[in-house]
Amino acid sequence: MSNSETRIIPARTGVAFEVRSGSRLKIINTYGSQVLDTWAFAAADMDEYMSMEHTRSATSRIIPGVGDTYVSNRFTPMLSVVEDTSPGVHDTLMCCCSRKTYERLKFQGYHDNCNDNFQSALASVGKHSPFTPGPLNLFMNFPVSAEGVITREPPVSRPGDYVLFDVQTDLLMVISACPQDIQTVNGAGKMPTDAAFQVLNQATTS
Ligand SMILES: [Zn+2]
Repeated sequence: MSNSETRIIPARTGVAFEVRSGSRLKIINTYGSQVLDTWAFAAADMDEYMSMEHTRSATSRIIPGVGDTYVSNRFTPMLSVVEDTSPGVHDTLMCCCSRKTYERLKFQGYHDNCNDNFQSALASVGKHSPFTPGPLNLFMNFPVSAEGVITREPPVSRPGDYVLFDVQTDLLMVISACPQDIQTVNGAGKMPTDAAFQVLNQATTS
């Protein structure tokens, strides 16, 4: 596969961009332990969004893997997992972090957060969503025990790990490099980092 331009997702910020049906989207954990809160909307209709609950229903998995497809709130196929070089540990259960998250953690003052990153990234492309859908938390390691208890562990991904998706319909993507630096969500060092993505045309794949 030939590489397209690599675009950086700066640490602690969000980006929004369109991807076309038939292309591939590669989301890269450049430094290895950065969680990336990821959303997708139908490019033509902000009322249709990638839905974690619909995807769990469609795949009967809490972590879809290679061969599985993330679907919308109308069960429209959106992103199919083609390749995952990480150990495949992601999260579809937790909401994104928000101002309230950091209030609950007793942080004093404003803390940047994925919810505000989501809204500001959408605003940067002239879009708005009246609510924040549940994100696909790529590389987030919150295992669920047999008793149903969720624990918060550092990512098990490594530098350069990526997830490659087939884009099934025209999408507006939003990705936030999570600024959580109080818990070990983004690694034991609690140091949010840049990440990156590439959009690849299937015509360029070999
Ligand atoms: Zn976050």
